[in-house]
Formats: sequence, structure tokens, C-alpha cells
Amino acid sequence: MAFSEDEVERYARHLVLSELGGPGQQALKRARVLIVGVGGVGAPAALYLAAAGVGTLGLIDDDVVGLSNLQRQIAFSTPEVGRPKVEAAAVRLGDLNPHVAIETFQERLTDANAAERIAAFDIVLDGTDDFATRHRVNAACVATGRPLVSGALGRWSGQVGVFAGRPCYQCLVSEAPPDAETCSRVGVVGALAGVVGAMAALEVIKLIAHAGEPLVGRLLLYDGLAGTARTVRIAADPGCPVCGG
Ligand SMILES: [Zn+2]
Repeated sequence: MAFSEDEVERYARHLVLSELGGPGQQALKRARVLIVGVGGVGAPAALYLAAAGVGTLGLIDDDVVGLSNLQRQIAFSTPEVGRPKVEAAAVRLGDLNPHVAIETFQERLTDANAAERIAAFDIVLDGTDDFATRHRVNAACVATGRPLVSGALGRWSGQVGVFAGRPCYQCLVSEAPPDAETCSRVGVVGALAGVVGAMAALEVIKLIAHAGEPLVGRLLLYDGLAGTARTVRIAADPGCPVCGG
């Protein structure tokens, strides 16, 4: 795939990076990335992945843009309140980079459609905030052999992890905690969504370009209030019902 003059100029800052360069940018152009949940994590991640030149972005979300989303989901603007998120995001991403093909799915990821949707893409970025969906995404990623980049946030802190085979997300979170917090209940600082979404997008880019050391089997924990981050190894659960032998 040859790049047009426009693309060479657009991706100039990537093309001079030794870890990306022409081959990395070509890999980005060939890649198909599915973003599950176009929200606090998914919306900023989608902007950076589109800007980076990922060839095909899939967006799955059944929700519409709400006024309370705009504090952190910077892919959307005020006139789009009430519009389906995948529709609004597709327009925004298409304006940002017309070289990116956008596939939209205005639906929830269910047991019935998860494997089919995920198998049609190379990498999955999960930014959803409910454990049932996260476990469903994880199970489908393990079953189809797709790497999963997972981002989560709440209040002032966030985390990003990459799962490729074993350990999987289910090893990390065996079941939904009974006191699971949601952003709508406990709140979240808007800028934190940008931090976590951008870190998740960065991990996707590293996986595609085989650059550096993706957070495979590791979890990066970012404490926004303290201004600190640490990375921990995720242990494989020998009895994991999803990835266990
Ligand atoms: Zn597992």
C-alpha cells in the first residue's frame, strides 16, 4: 500500500520515529480495531486511533450522546446531544482523518453477537464500565485469539491493561465486585478520561507496530490525585474458566 502525498505529510511525525516509520504506519493502515463503548475511555481513544491512521475503526455502542457525557467525552459536541454516539463519532472521526474507514454498530455487545463482531477485527479496545460486558468481551477475545486492551477509570484514578491469551481479564477480575463503582455514581474527573483513553490508544498502536513493550499481562495503575503511576504483573488464575487449561 503506497501512501498518498497527503498521508505522508499527515503522518510525518510517525514516519520519523524509528519504532514506527513506514512499516509501522503501513501496519496501522492495514489494522482493524474494534472499540467497545464510545464513552469516557473509548471516545478519546477513537480520536487518537483515527488521527494515527488506523485503517479501519469499528465502533460499538447503543447509547446516545448525553449532556453529562460532554464533560469528558471530547469526541462529541453540544449540538449532538440526543444523537447516537456511533453516528456522531463516525462524523467526527471522518472529519479528523478521511483515510480511516469507520464501521458502526449501534447495539450492545451480547453473547449472541460478541464472537462475530470481535472476530471481524484484529484488536479490541474495551472502554465499557460494566463488568458483565467486560467479561463478555474478554471471553470472546480469548475464544477468537484477539488481543484485548482494557481501560477503566473512576473518581481520580484509572488503569490500563493488555490481555493476550493467558492471563486474561477474567484472571484479574474473577467476578464483578458487589460494591462495583460506576462513574455516574461516584464521579470522574474529565481529564482523566483523556489520560486513560490516550494510554489505551497508545497500547493499541504499540501492538500493531510491534513497538516497545505492550502492557501484556500487566496493569498500569494511574493515581491522578497523587500524580503517580505503577505497573503490576497480573497472575494467571489456574482455575480460570475462560483461559485456564
Ligand atoms: Zn483467565
